[in-house]
Amino acid sequence: MSAQLLEQVTGYCARLRLLRVAAQLPTVLAQAERGETSLLEALGTLLGAEATARETVRLKTSLAMSHLPAVKTLEDFDFSFAPSLDRTRVQALASLDFVRRQENVLLLGPPGVGKTHLAIALAVAACRAGLQTYFTSVAELVTSLLAAQQRGQLATRLQFYTKHALLVLDEVGYLPLAPGGPNLMFQLVSARYKRGSLVLTSNKPFRDWGQVFGDEVIASALLDRLLHHAVVLNIRGASYRLRDRLPDLGPEAPPAPVKPCGRPPRIPAPEGR
Ligand code: ADP
Ligand code: MG
Repeated sequence: MSAQLLEQVTGYCARLRLLRVAAQLPTVLAQAERGETSLLEALGTLLGAEATARETVRLKTSLAMSHLPAVKTLEDFDFSFAPSLDRTRVQALASLDFVRRQENVLLLGPPGVGKTHLAIALAVAACRAGLQTYFTSVAELVTSLLAAQQRGQLATRLQFYTKHALLVLDEVGYLPLAPGGPNLMFQLVSARYKRGSLVLTSNKPFRDWGQVFGDEVIASALLDRLLHHAVVLNIRGASYRLRDRLPDLGPEAPPAPVKPCGRPPRIPAPEGR
């Protein structure tokens, strides 16, 4: 192995930022020179190490930027505990075609049935696929948009929430929204309509969304946009959190299933909303 040539190739690696290739080059070359591996195998080892390391860094950055509360995957999800879910349908979602088609996924059901887990799993799959992804609770979203509005920076903040290929909005209906919140939520959903996907979780059936948003007209206009191109998954059953305590809780244990009332009638959004 010519030391001068090795130095030259290492220099090219530095210029091309092929840091793992540079690090492994002497060992892998020596193996090839001893005839232990073919040249093609040596190249495969070097480029494979570089590609894997880059993908790991990219995934780590992407997960850090996605603001996920935890990392959960479909592999961690026990479908036998959620028999109301169509496993094939959920796994098909993880192919992320819905994101490429700018469609939405709405996960409905009582507390503890795995809505947030599945939403996170889809977000993790999106990060793996290199799609820009962000996770937020609806309460946090509204707080952030209200603060931006007060600073006169609402448009910039809305742009932030619109730029991601996939936005997860967790926990619609858990907490009452601050005044002005429903209007801002509507603005966001309108801004993303047909431009990017939403995965949304809620413990409230659609018929209660008028109450959730304190305004039937806004709720109807929101649902109209959300459901236009959407997959709705209703998860029924008992809370996974309480799975060990189910026998103690008796027949009342499983919370009431969510009954969606289907797509609401199309009501045009009010002026200025
Ligand atoms: P929800 O959002 O419906 O209230 P979560 O997704 O937060 O429920 O689930 C509560 C906890 O139970 C989480 O730690 C989640 O990972 C776990 N969990 C829920 N359902 C399942 C399941 N079917 N398999 C594995 N873990 C589950
Ligand atoms: Mg949840």
